[in-house]
Amino acid sequence: MNTADVVIVGGGIVGSSIAWHLTQQGCKNILVIERETHQGKGSTGKSMGGVRAQFSTPVNIQMSLYSIPFYAEFEQRLGHPSGYRPQGYLFLATSEKHLAYLRTNQETQKSLGLTTAHMITREEVQELYPQLRLDDVVGGAFCSTDGFVDPYSAMNGFIKSACEHGATVCKDTLVTGISRDSAGISAVETTRGNFSTRIVVNAAGAWAAEIAAMVGIELPVIPLRRQLVPSEPFADFPHTAPMIIDMSNGFHFRPEALGFLLAWADPDETPGYKMSFDDGFIEKILVHAANRVPIFENLAINPKRAWAGLYEMTPDHHPILGAIEGVPGFYCANGFSGHGVMHAPATGKILADLILRGTTDLIDASLLNYSRFAEGREIHESAVL
Ligand SMILES: Cc1cc2nc3c(=O)[nH]c(=O)nc-3n(C[C@H](O)[C@H](O)[C@H](O)COP(=O)(O)OP(=O)(O)OC[C@H]3O[C@@H](n4cnc5c(N)ncnc54)[C@H](O)[C@@H]3O)c2cc1C
Repeated sequence: MNTADVVIVGGGIVGSSIAWHLTQQGCKNILVIERETHQGKGSTGKSMGGVRAQFSTPVNIQMSLYSIPFYAEFEQRLGHPSGYRPQGYLFLATSEKHLAYLRTNQETQKSLGLTTAHMITREEVQELYPQLRLDDVVGGAFCSTDGFVDPYSAMNGFIKSACEHGATVCKDTLVTGISRDSAGISAVETTRGNFSTRIVVNAAGAWAAEIAAMVGIELPVIPLRRQLVPSEPFADFPHTAPMIIDMSNGFHFRPEALGFLLAWADPDETPGYKMSFDDGFIEKILVHAANRVPIFENLAINPKRAWAGLYEMTPDHHPILGAIEGVPGFYCANGFSGHGVMHAPATGKILADLILRGTTDLIDASLLNYSRFAEGREIHESAVL
């Protein structure tokens, strides 16, 4: 039987970042197990690639304040591009309540050290993007260091560099069980045999609850379909634009290649492993698109290029990170609720710290532990797109 110091289940961006951060802290004998023949076929390869520090809770902001500069320096540090484009996130408020909410969030963000966010008036938005319909907009918030990354490229950068420093990836290998003895975790069972280990990290994305069930834990991570619609080339809106969010209904869009990528959380969506794109979604999202950007009425869409993936939702829209009490050697990095790409660097650092040192100075890790649900310590993030 092969032996590893740490076995990571799931080779998406989160598992890859954890592997890399472990190698940087001196842990070399790491095995990443991925059931697909290629990494990135889970949520990572379906992501919109947005990165932002404009959150409402301090812990989410702190994770972004580690992750975004990390993506900015990614190529220098890992020798591979992350595709970071600091084009910003622009939230458009259509009520005084939303504007006050943005203001309060910005105070929290600034108190934690974010210097690149500011409030913006309707007139300033009008000047920048006269293509937007702004009659109902009362103002907004903009952060210039928010933007986009290429999730697939960042994932590859993490895993490539991790492997150069000793990690191994076992693809096309399904984790089917986890064995335990009196000391805790003893092995991971797979379709390619067993791997003996004392430490397992659950980085299985939307499938995390299945892995946790292997050690008798009920993990509150639920898959929820999210659909994205790319347009055909469109030149009548600036391609230097940020992610623009219409707070009246959550519709948002950003430039992508020669066109635009449109997103919206359909309130009628129900949980489940639904991976196929529903053509009926295009009509729904185009109504919101043309409502905020009247010239988007002319956007050409090829339904064959649209796609669906899974968000991994937790009840309080924060991830579950760290050790699980009562299961020595079992760690979770799950439930990112739509923020797993932007928070992958911080997650890698936090998990490596917790596994190797038992503590981290990046965040107060107890805020995100599994026990928070049983202890009624949920912390709600309302700035979820
Ligand atoms: C449409 C869409 C848009 C998004 N937009 C954004 C965004 O703009 N910004 C952002 O930060 N996040 C976004 N997200 C969320 C983000 O993509 C995820 O949070 C992130 O990719 C999670 O990474 P992961 O590595 O945990 O999961 P995954 O990428 O899903 O990786 C988990 C891996 O585990 C493997 N696995 C599962 N079970 C087993 C098993 N039993 N054995 C072996 N392997 C197993 C899977 O095959 C998979 O490859 C978006 C998601 C979607 C679907």
